[in-house]
Amino acid sequence: MIQIAVLSGKGGTGKTMLTAAFTTLIQEPIITADADVDAANLALLLDADIISTEPFYGMESAKIDETLCTGCGLCEEACRFDAISEDNGVWMVDPIQCEGCAVCTVVCPSGAIHMEKIRNGDLFLSNTRFGLLSHARLYPGSGTTGLLVHEVKKQALAHALDARILLIDGPPGIGCPLISAVSGVDACILVAEPSISSLHDMQRLVRVCRQFGPRLYGVINKHDLSQKAADQITDWFASENIPCVGTIPFDECVAKAVRGGKPVTAFDCPAAQSIKAIWAEIADKEGIDERTD
Ligand code: SF4
Ligand code: SF4
Repeated sequence: MIQIAVLSGKGGTGKTMLTAAFTTLIQEPIITADADVDAANLALLLDADIISTEPFYGMESAKIDETLCTGCGLCEEACRFDAISEDNGVWMVDPIQCEGCAVCTVVCPSGAIHMEKIRNGDLFLSNTRFGLLSHARLYPGSGTTGLLVHEVKKQALAHALDARILLIDGPPGIGCPLISAVSGVDACILVAEPSISSLHDMQRLVRVCRQFGPRLYGVINKHDLSQKAADQITDWFASENIPCVGTIPFDECVAKAVRGGKPVTAFDCPAAQSIKAIWAEIADKEGIDERTD
């Protein structure tokens, strides 16, 4: 199986739009994974039907048993995250503030505190016209994005069966979710926008990706909004020996496709034509059959 992640140094560069479009262009059996769990919307563009939902338990939170608590206050003193407070003689933990370190369970002399698993989100498996999609929803305020990305990929691999391609819509940025998404992948498609800040984001992204050794391909979306910045990014890709496999023009067709919940390849427009040419280049380099219908 070839694992390919579509990545960008920041959100809003068109990564999900591109992933959905690429999905429609692959002839071989494919499974997709939406690893952008903080803003998962690949399911919308692929018109996905959920076939299974599982709870995601990301981290633990402390819980105080009132019947055992003597009110000594040692747990409040020990908690570095100010998650424990007292109200009218009742000691309690704020689950939003609690970081799950379990120090309070150690210092409590009465054994009144235990750790409980917290449901931080949902893990979905869906059917699409192009094969299965593994995706998730992280509940607001949950800080376990990297772990959920790992679960999304794990589920995809468990259901891959005869799939030859795992195409991953990666998370933005260079933090823990990216590391979860990029570990084990064979190739990364790096999507930049024509701006200096996007170039800087890309430089940081490439530094992280290179720790994992995948083949890298560069793409510049909306290149014509600033040809000068696009040329700078193209030059930088060249200096890093990263093949720039294509550019996509600004095209209102893309917004129309996203608003309609469709991959842009459903339309005959300049952006779709560029994306088809980009995928043809990547498929050729990776030895993947293209869809011809
Ligand atoms: S588990 Fe850690 S963060 Fe949570 S309440 Fe206890 S000491 Fe505070
Ligand atoms: S340390 Fe234990 S006994 Fe003391 S206030 Fe906290 S929960 Fe209650």
